[in-house]
Amino acid sequence: MAGSKDERENSRRAIEEKAYSQLKELYENMPHEIPLLLFTAKGEKEPFNQAARQILQVMGQIASKITFKEFGLSHEVARNWKVTQSPTILFDPEHFKIRWLGAPVGEETRTLVLVLQMMGYRTAGLSADSLKILQNIREPRHIKLFVSPTCPYCPQQAVNAFKGAIEKPDLISLEIVDIQANPDLARRYGAQSVPQTFANDKLIAMGAQTEELFMASLQKLEEQTVYIPENDAAEIEADLVIVGGGPAGLTAGIYAARSGLRTHIVEKGLLGGQIATTPIVENYPGITQVGGKALVDIMVTHALQYVSIFPGEEVMEIKPGEPIQVTTNRRRFQTKAVLLATGARYRHLDAPGETQLFGRGVSYCSTCDGPLFKGKKVIIVGGGNSAVTETLNLHQIGVNVTVVHRRETLRAQEHLVQSLRASKIPVILNTVVQEIRGEEKVKEVELYNTQTQSKTKMPADGVFVAVGYDPEVGLAKKLGLELTAEGYVKHDSRHRTNVPGIYVAGDVEGGYKQIVVAAGKGAEAAMTIFEDLIDPYWKKNGIASQK
Ligand SMILES: Cc1cc2nc3c(=O)[nH]c(=O)nc-3n(C[C@H](O)[C@H](O)[C@H](O)COP(=O)(O)OP(=O)(O)OC[C@H]3O[C@@H](n4cnc5c(N)ncnc54)[C@H](O)[C@@H]3O)c2cc1C
Repeated sequence: MAGSKDERENSRRAIEEKAYSQLKELYENMPHEIPLLLFTAKGEKEPFNQAARQILQVMGQIASKITFKEFGLSHEVARNWKVTQSPTILFDPEHFKIRWLGAPVGEETRTLVLVLQMMGYRTAGLSADSLKILQNIREPRHIKLFVSPTCPYCPQQAVNAFKGAIEKPDLISLEIVDIQANPDLARRYGAQSVPQTFANDKLIAMGAQTEELFMASLQKLEEQTVYIPENDAAEIEADLVIVGGGPAGLTAGIYAARSGLRTHIVEKGLLGGQIATTPIVENYPGITQVGGKALVDIMVTHALQYVSIFPGEEVMEIKPGEPIQVTTNRRRFQTKAVLLATGARYRHLDAPGETQLFGRGVSYCSTCDGPLFKGKKVIIVGGGNSAVTETLNLHQIGVNVTVVHRRETLRAQEHLVQSLRASKIPVILNTVVQEIRGEEKVKEVELYNTQTQSKTKMPADGVFVAVGYDPEVGLAKKLGLELTAEGYVKHDSRHRTNVPGIYVAGDVEGGYKQIVVAAGKGAEAAMTIFEDLIDPYWKKNGIASQK
């Protein structure tokens, strides 16, 4: 390294002096003064009192705009501001509701330096998206943020919280709690790691967040893991509009946008579609086991790299033509192509206990959850092709399965019924599931024989419901798309429908209903759409658009 030890020491000192004088200038030019009030009780948490006193004295010495006063906890000023803990720092309490329980030392000194500047200039420097989110907060928010001086991630979250409290002092109050100085409070909130953020006594974040995610979590009062900016445009021009933000739609979005198409995904309900309500996924390649919500976050975060997503927005109408008009409850898109990835819903039994025990023994997908029941006793409800196929599957993997069907005979194809008989799988006919019982998980089912009108109890560890699907084809019907006999959207091998410019992908097409299959179909459809747009398929084949 160049230079002697003394030279290096001199240049370090010069840099520090320069930084100090720049900070001094910045603070002196602040349009507003910042009174810092420290409250301590002699002999109580003395090392923390001492540390807080020292750091505030230093800040007060840097610039005359920062003033520092200390009071005892029994002083009337402490009573006025309802301060009861030692040490507590109030930041300009006439203007902000911000207090620090502990001493802003270690990693937290960075926070202090930055937020004093924000207060002095009365500007939090929030992004336009964060400001928009904050505008939607109309009720008070009391933030309690647990930090520690040794946590390098805490300043980021603390700065987020300060920004909120500085921007909206009328509604947002902030209490930074140093867990080392306040172990009792940390225990009361169960805060055993930092940073941890509570708002109105609800846990809204574990760990540090981006500014927008922090503001969104604060607004919604629950942790947000994906932030999608709002879009106010009333009219949007596009190459492709995808209806549905499940795996088919999200994958199609990634593929289409990556091939250069201006692509938008509109999702009326939960992003991720059916995966969003799936407790655990164990058959998505590359990920041994993942919670449904976590998989959705991974997919949505990936899709957002390329494509804009409009969550909470429903496509109400699609008018074919050139361009195709897609009307949602919030805006209109003019687009060259539309992909319907609207999915399907498993039919339910509507039996008592079914909803409560979903994910705890009740399942709608034997391919997904079957392996969890190996060696256990389950019933499968249904009598069609898929119910019998799923039964054979469960039997094959070592599940002790009984079929319960409400009709006199099974409706499945003969060869499937033969296999069922050959495997000696018990079948109970003319019987419905009247109730599914269990506390933590499924314990037994109550069956009702519709012929003899008798009730029986049957012990079971699981109930697989295989009574069919309802494909989401409302829009398809309005558009005049042809449907199959089972009610799915008819399409060619490249996902084209009978209406020019309109394509389908995923569960709404029928066939195997799996995430990886839906994703594959979405990818295929997007590639077809790209090719059809550059080499106009519909025109070349003389298929006119309807106006
Ligand atoms: C409980 C459960 C567990 C499952 N477990 C597994 C598993 O472990 N492994 C596996 O591979 N598969 C599993 N599946 C199946 C898998 O989730 C589906 O096959 C897959 O999600 C289908 O994807 P999709 O995109 O076609 O449709 P969906 O996931 O149904 O998504 C369609 C989306 O379109 C939206 N939409 C519909 N109409 C409109 C409109 N007009 N405007 C805007 N949006 C609209 C819907 O709100 C929905 O979000 C499970 C399914 C369920 C229900």
